[in-house]
Amino acid sequence: MRLIQYEDILSAARTGGKLFTDGKYMLTPLAKEALKRHNVEILSGGSSMRKIIIAGNWKMNMSNEDAVRLSRAVASGLGDLSSRGRIAVMCPPFTALSSVASSISGSKGLYLGAQNIFYEDKGAYTGEVSADMLISCGCSFCIIGHSERRKYFGETDETVNKRAKKALEKSLTPVICVGETLEERESSRAFNVVKKQITGALQGISKEDIAKVVIAYEPVWAIGTGKTASPEQAQSMHAYIREQIAGLSDGAVAQSVSILYGGSMNPANVKGLLECTDIDGGLIGGASLKAEDFLKLVHFDD
Ligand code: PEP
Repeated sequence: MRLIQYEDILSAARTGGKLFTDGKYMLTPLAKEALKRHNVEILSGGSSMRKIIIAGNWKMNMSNEDAVRLSRAVASGLGDLSSRGRIAVMCPPFTALSSVASSISGSKGLYLGAQNIFYEDKGAYTGEVSADMLISCGCSFCIIGHSERRKYFGETDETVNKRAKKALEKSLTPVICVGETLEERESSRAFNVVKKQITGALQGISKEDIAKVVIAYEPVWAIGTGKTASPEQAQSMHAYIREQIAGLSDGAVAQSVSILYGGSMNPANVKGLLECTDIDGGLIGGASLKAEDFLKLVHFDD
């Protein structure tokens, strides 16, 4: 029997409002009160319990002024998401994290994420940004292993794994990106490539912590190209990823993990993708840079 404490609820509230527990649990009186106040859900598995996550990856775009304008427009158009079983996340460049945090503070269901994290706590690592620094800017999420980081900055499954472990240690939710290139898909290697990425990213992570990660399946050939995976292609990869997660943890954990699709998702194709059983949201690049489009993605079923 697990005893859930006040701090567990606060930590879940900071990272999307989902607390996974495997089996029976008890709440301290303070935790019970905090559960309601912070709108935290306790999950014990089951696809109906997965929250939909719509996350915007702004990449290397937006001055501070533009970032404030965009985040204010999103925050004011979002409404209260807390009762809708979904959350929105904005991942601006590091330079705009603090100003975006101020402009979205008080928005229910809207969270701040970073586009990367370093795996050391501090020291002589010029140009890197630590978990504590991200937390002090107001981040709850961080993208890890985006294909652009793998392609241009030498990110490997091993460094993805180290970053994911550090994020989990510090109670940040890692959004771990995986996905095959066009050449890998055309040579029928897509599933093997993604299996290796998932296994590498989650190596040595306990099943309790695996329950806290978010995976983003982003076929490289669909990122920024206007080409989207069909709902059938995406669903079959998402189901396969869930199977891999089950192998590394167990079925209940695998059912609780949100798996997002990324790759030219836009207001016209979002519904078809999110109707698939194993697609629990989106990681969105281009369409997250316009408030109107991002809001349409968050409210895809209105
Ligand atoms: C991304 O970079 O994560 C992404 C999915 O980009 P886009 O939506 O522009 O394809």
